[in-house]
Amino acid sequence: MKPGYQRLYEQGILNERAGTLARLMRDCTLCPRKCRVDRLSGERGFCGLGGSVILNRGLPHHGEEPPISGSRGAGTIFFSSCNLRCSYCQNYQISHRAKGRVVDSKDLSGLMLSLQERGCHNIDAVTATPHLAGFSEALDDACGKGLTIPIVYNSSGYENPEVVMLLDGMVDLYLPDFKYGNDNDARLFSSVGDYCSFAVPALKEMVRQVGDSLDMVDGIARRGIIVRHLILPGRVENSLQVLRLIKRNISTSVSLSIMSQYTPIPALEGHPLMGRRITEEEYERVVNEALDMGFDTIFAQEVSDNHMAPDFDRDTPFLWG
Ligand code: SF4
Repeated sequence: MKPGYQRLYEQGILNERAGTLARLMRDCTLCPRKCRVDRLSGERGFCGLGGSVILNRGLPHHGEEPPISGSRGAGTIFFSSCNLRCSYCQNYQISHRAKGRVVDSKDLSGLMLSLQERGCHNIDAVTATPHLAGFSEALDDACGKGLTIPIVYNSSGYENPEVVMLLDGMVDLYLPDFKYGNDNDARLFSSVGDYCSFAVPALKEMVRQVGDSLDMVDGIARRGIIVRHLILPGRVENSLQVLRLIKRNISTSVSLSIMSQYTPIPALEGHPLMGRRITEEEYERVVNEALDMGFDTIFAQEVSDNHMAPDFDRDTPFLWG
């Protein structure tokens, strides 16, 4: 199965998209915050990023969902700084600030090709949203040099649907979070009052592009979507609202990844709401409700005290090294 971006590359469309995305940074509306700053002239908006791509690292990742990580790992590229910045973010060391090195499109293209050479099943771009212009320019370059593995767009779900439209054909697999089913929780934990009104249409557009199922070859996803939801402590009702929104607005055929690994980050240790892990009862309630609603593909996890949040201050942020 040929990745969609190859056709865009052959027709010169990938290069045009990179140009369009770069122009959006002149009056930045790459994400729903719509800061309207001129990032190419060095102005900074909420994400704190200028015109350059800040890379934290790229590595084979063995902790994504099985069809994404497979046996050889996802080729994960961690970009720095996030446009959402949840107070509890498990990647807070790189999402709450720009921690990494400036790379150009040739560096990034070289990284994509090296992950492919290492056998990774895909390029798994984590929070590429504010870096989309540089990412697509690098993809154009890498495609010309032999990149053939699928592109995974791994995002917070807080996306500008008009920008998601520009990813049509460029992204093979969407891996969006769907964090909140009500704007009160979104405001409380991520300081945005309009999460749902952007996440729902963005998700609809993703499904329009790649369908609501997962196309697999030998157990590895090649095209489609997995919607992720991290259950927060004491917020089961938020999780149920997320499920209802997806059922009502999208489909129960989308694969869900219901995540149990919430771990309080150091700033939230002892916090009255967020200072604990979730319980087995909370997790089971959400999974059972998803099954009752008719979601038939669910990636589930054990509830365990042994989950470790990644540590991006280490050379190897994950336990597998
Ligand atoms: S990408 Fe950054 S500057 Fe642009 S709208 Fe989003 S937060 Fe603001």
